[in-house]
Amino acid sequence: VGGLDATVEPLLEHRHAVLYEASRSLHKVLEPLERRAEQDVRGAAKSALRALAQAELLRQVVPKANGGALERPEVRALVAIRDGVAQAGGLADAMFALQGLGSLPLTLAGSDEQRKAWLPRVAKGTAIAGFAMTEPDAGSDAAAITTRATRTLQGWELSGTKTFISNAGLADFYTLFAKTDPGAGGKGITAFLVPGDARGLSVEPLQTLAPHPLGTLRLQKVQLGRDAMVGVEKEGLKLALRTLDVMRPTVAAAACGLAARGLEEALKRARARRQFGRPIAEYQGLRWRLADAATELQAARLLVHRAAWLKDLGQERITLESAQAKLFATEAAQRIVDLALQVHGGTGVLAGTIVERLYREVRALRIYEGTSEILRDVVARGVLEDGAR
Ligand SMILES: Cc1cc2nc3c(=O)[nH]c(=O)nc-3n(C[C@H](O)[C@H](O)[C@H](O)COP(=O)(O)OP(=O)(O)OC[C@H]3O[C@@H](n4cnc5c(N)ncnc54)[C@H](O)[C@@H]3O)c2cc1C
Repeated sequence: VGGLDATVEPLLEHRHAVLYEASRSLHKVLEPLERRAEQDVRGAAKSALRALAQAELLRQVVPKANGGALERPEVRALVAIRDGVAQAGGLADAMFALQGLGSLPLTLAGSDEQRKAWLPRVAKGTAIAGFAMTEPDAGSDAAAITTRATRTLQGWELSGTKTFISNAGLADFYTLFAKTDPGAGGKGITAFLVPGDARGLSVEPLQTLAPHPLGTLRLQKVQLGRDAMVGVEKEGLKLALRTLDVMRPTVAAAACGLAARGLEEALKRARARRQFGRPIAEYQGLRWRLADAATELQAARLLVHRAAWLKDLGQERITLESAQAKLFATEAAQRIVDLALQVHGGTGVLAGTIVERLYREVRALRIYEGTSEILRDVVARGVLEDGAR
């Protein structure tokens, strides 16, 4: 399949390659958890988080001043880790990702007190983070959220419903987006830090195709202090989009990890399985498809690392590059994992095989943090405004 460093060497520093290998070395611990997750998603999720914390990988998601590894989190570190971890499975990857997604708004715009209270715990895995934007009537159209935050004498009161929230019920805190000015559309959204045990907050779990701790949050007059606002009032949507700029290449990296694992399994099977007196790897009908899959995987990794490298280099916004990386990598991963299953024939659909699990795990990546359709829209806007570059 080709190691990560072999593909994107010019864009990597030694420390990123080390993180990739460290992530892959956790497979022995993480893979059994993926199997346990089919019965006990929340227990397995917590164990996966502990393993990631013990390997000190979570320190990459927060700044050094708050217990992190580097001055500021590097996107190349995050993508190297997600590619490596996702090769073991989607649940461990999601647990790593959510520590980043839920805490990045605090890193980008939180007060000193908010950062001090939560980020060191995120880095140690002793606090679980969540990111709550989506609502029953506002998915792709985030500006249409209706969760309301009103000022009170003590601070804020929040009411509304959030759904499809990862880590719902597990999270110790959520970065949650609500309207403070309902008449202003997307310009009336503000981010809040909501503790997982806040009174008036209730959780209903949702079952998913592949194990993932997902649920609906109901907020009924949740009372928060004056210090609960994250960043500037009415700049919540901008903060969410800045967060997604950084996280989308990492979703794309996770897609590469799932695809790399699928391709590896496909190559193994193609060499070992004999039909018509020969290994099936000798038939051109399969060889060309395997060649396309291997090529798509490396192309996806290059897009991922290009977006990450530009951000680490100091480019303020990478909206176009990160949308292109996520769009291409998640769609390619779907094709590659589908091929991997096809190469396994009937064995591929047996419950408990690796390709069967990958087939379920890869699907959601084309939906969350911007569906493929919305990303095409972002890319089209970018190239129509600025040219193809
Ligand atoms: C596993 C999982 C985890 C998630 N975790 C979180 C989380 O932690 N926090 C959070 O806030 N959200 C989370 N989400 C929600 C996710 O971000 C939304 O599902 C996503 O934004 C799409 O919204 P929707 O499901 O309401 O689909 P809709 O917006 O209703 O879209 C339905 C379909 O219509 C298409 N569509 C919509 N608008 C357009 C358009 N303008 N042009 C073309 N096509 C369009 C979409 O692409 C899609 O195919 C998660 C989702 C999943 C599946």
